[in-house]
Amino acid sequence: MDPKYATHKGLLETHELHKYIMENNVYPREPKPLKELRALTATHPWAVMGTAPEAGQLIEILLKVIGAKKTIEIGVFTGYSLLLTALAIPQDGKIVAIDMDRGAYEIGLPVIQKAGVEHKINFIESEGLPALDKLLEDPENQGSFDYVFVDADKGNYINYHELILKLLKVNGIVVYDNTLWFGTVAKPEDSVPEGYRRGRTAIVEFNKALAADPRVDISMIPLGDGLTICRRL
Ligand code: SAH
Ligand code: CA
Repeated sequence: MDPKYATHKGLLETHELHKYIMENNVYPREPKPLKELRALTATHPWAVMGTAPEAGQLIEILLKVIGAKKTIEIGVFTGYSLLLTALAIPQDGKIVAIDMDRGAYEIGLPVIQKAGVEHKINFIESEGLPALDKLLEDPENQGSFDYVFVDADKGNYINYHELILKLLKVNGIVVYDNTLWFGTVAKPEDSVPEGYRRGRTAIVEFNKALAADPRVDISMIPLGDGLTICRRL
C-alpha cells in the first residue's frame, strides 16, 4: 500500500472528497421534503445551523435500525433534523421537539405538514432544560426513550446529558451535533476567532466528559460539523 494512504487522517479534510460524497451519495438520495426544507431555509441568515444532509443520512439509518419510536429533539430551528426524524420513524412514532424559537419552527412547518408527518411531532416552545425536567416528572417517561438528538445551546450539552441518561432506555441512542465545532476543537484557543471561543470551550469540555463517561459507548463521526453517537449502557 502506498504509505500516503496508510495514514488515518480525516479524509474529509479535502473539499473534493466532500463534494464527491454530496453529489454522488447524499443529494441523489435526499428525500424531496428535506430538499424543499433546505431550500426554504437557505435564505435564512442562520441557514448554516441546519443539520448537514450527510449527517442526516446516517441518522436516518440509525433511527431505522434501532426501530426508534419514542424520541426527543432539542434544537429544532426550521426543522431539517426534525423532519428527517419524522420521516424515518413509524406512523405511530413520536417526537418531543423542544425549541424556544417557535418562529423558526413555523418556517418549516408547511413542508412538514405536506409530508404528512406533523401528527408525530409534539412541539414544545421552551428552553431545553426545564422541558426535560418536566418530562422526567412523569415516571412513565423515565428510561423510556429510544432516541434523542441534541442540537441546541452547546454550553448546556453537559447538563442535557445528565437528564437524557435518565430519559433514555438501556441501548437507547443520543446523538450530539456540532461536536467538532468548525474544527476549532483541534486548534489552539488563541488561534480561534473570538466568536467561536465560547462554543469551542464548551464543546472541548463536553467531549472530555463524554470520553470519561462509563455510562455510555461513544463514537465521534466527522460528518457535517461532527456528531457524537452515544449508546446508553
Ligand atoms: N437541528 C436544527 C438546527 C438547530 S440550530 C436543524 O436541523 O435545522 C439550534 C437551535 O437551538 C435554534 O433553533 C435555537 O433556537 C435553539 N436553542 C438555543 N438555545 C436553546 C435552549 N436553551 N433551549 C432550547 N432551544 C435552544
Ligand atoms: Ca447543528
